Amino acid sequence: MKLSEFVYPDTSLPVWERIEMLGYFPLLYKDELLYSTISRLHIHTGFANYKTTIKCLFGKDSMRATIDFPTNLDVLTKNISFKTITSDKLIDEHTMFPLYQPFLPIDRANDIKDKMKTKNNGSIHAKIGLSASRISPHTHLLFCQSCYDEDFEKCGEAYWHRIHQVPGVLVCPHHGCFLKKSGVKLPLVSYIAYIAPYYAVERGSSYVIESCLEIRDSLYLIAKDLDWLMNANLSAKPMNYYRELYVDCLKHKKLALPTRRVRQKALIKAIRSFYSAELLNMIGCDILDENESNWVKELTRKNRKTFHPLYHVLLIRFLFGSVMKFFEETNLPSKKDTIKGSSKTQPKKSVVNSDTVKNKRTDWLKLQEVYPLYTRKELRKVAGNLYMWLYRNDKEWLQLNSPTRKTTIPSYNRVNWGERDKAMLEEVKQICLEWNDSVKPVRKSIHSIIKRVKRGYLLVNYPDKLPLTNAFLMSQIETVEEFQIRRIKNVTEELRKENQIISEWQIYRKAGLRSTVTEKVRQFITYEVNIGVRR
Ligand SMILES: [Zn+2]
Repeated sequence: MKLSEFVYPDTSLPVWERIEMLGYFPLLYKDELLYSTISRLHIHTGFANYKTTIKCLFGKDSMRATIDFPTNLDVLTKNISFKTITSDKLIDEHTMFPLYQPFLPIDRANDIKDKMKTKNNGSIHAKIGLSASRISPHTHLLFCQSCYDEDFEKCGEAYWHRIHQVPGVLVCPHHGCFLKKSGVKLPLVSYIAYIAPYYAVERGSSYVIESCLEIRDSLYLIAKDLDWLMNANLSAKPMNYYRELYVDCLKHKKLALPTRRVRQKALIKAIRSFYSAELLNMIGCDILDENESNWVKELTRKNRKTFHPLYHVLLIRFLFGSVMKFFEETNLPSKKDTIKGSSKTQPKKSVVNSDTVKNKRTDWLKLQEVYPLYTRKELRKVAGNLYMWLYRNDKEWLQLNSPTRKTTIPSYNRVNWGERDKAMLEEVKQICLEWNDSVKPVRKSIHSIIKRVKRGYLLVNYPDKLPLTNAFLMSQIETVEEFQIRRIKNVTEELRKENQIISEWQIYRKAGLRSTVTEKVRQFITYEVNIGVRR
């Protein structure tokens, strides 16, 4: 296409009316917050300020940026109608709503959803019961270093993950490592700013919390449950629906009397020995005084209040082992069930309906709850007969409901970190020695080196366990200035080999430098040119 054929958007239109002509809205990534997509859109379009971006999307520039429950979504979806995305889809896949929905009364859930679609700025936090909740939200937007690196590799950019911002999630449910704090403080200081990870994430960012492995593992399981809940597409339930199920189970565990009166003291004692005080404190769910009102008492007595999903998750884990198991046992339909149980993936009807299959499936899922970090092969070693039965009679289901790959959480007990450190040091030394710059020079940054190391994620997650490798890695990092000087050396060497006259403009062009280089780099260029002249 010739340049003259290119049709520019009509510049007589105000800039916010041009977005439809641009026909551009970024692809929404899996589990990405809508806030994050808008922050990326702002970068992609290069609009001069946030007000313009907001006006393009919402029709007015005073819309408040919201992390968890954005509003005015019907206007947004209308303005990006070229994208055929509905407000319902945005709510279900890119806001916090689906996590809260199963624990809200039906009317209130519908009301909140309507408000998110139509209101400009709603009182959603109060409606959902968050204003009265003792669980504090995170103080910053959080990120997982491994997710960040993987996103960069897969998508060419990073994004804010919804699950990492849920109160109580301090460990990544996918990688098992502690989350880190970004530069975006919460509540948002500027109500209109949409900050992308690109501007707010640093490799040296501090962890949101650091603790022993036992606590990390407990936090990992809680995060996994919250992640499952977020994606299970569960519907709202009538008031006290869960309370009745909890009391049934408490009766079975002798923690409630046949009259359904809960033995509160005994229950709190049991919960305190199930979750350590340190863990409960970390996620803001302490039970300080058993005589005072606390979340355990509140959840198990009849009332008209709604409670934070994190409280439900803690009680469900204590009573039923895991959230997934609880919802399967209480037969609540979920998206996951529908997907996994679709006619395409199920064996013949007669077999599916039999109790034996049901029991075997439950056993297999239960086994994975007990050994959450085991691979399929390792699970098979633990329960060979069960595995073989399912393999013969229910193969497709088994394929869909088994761990797909080994988790990246290394076991501290079995690993000899000293040996691993030495081996990795040799690997990194070799990589730096053979740093291949022949096609396109690459700066030796932590990221670019780690990317070439076979198990580089270990260096990201456990730098303290690999002190030799880490120290060597740090000594190899190039600053931008050092990288420019290396490029200049490569270029001048090349020119000399070809017996060409070395001039400043040639160096700038061939080394891909801008005129804004630092004084040191400028001096080095002059030095190289002068050597060329002398020769
Ligand atoms: Zn992660």
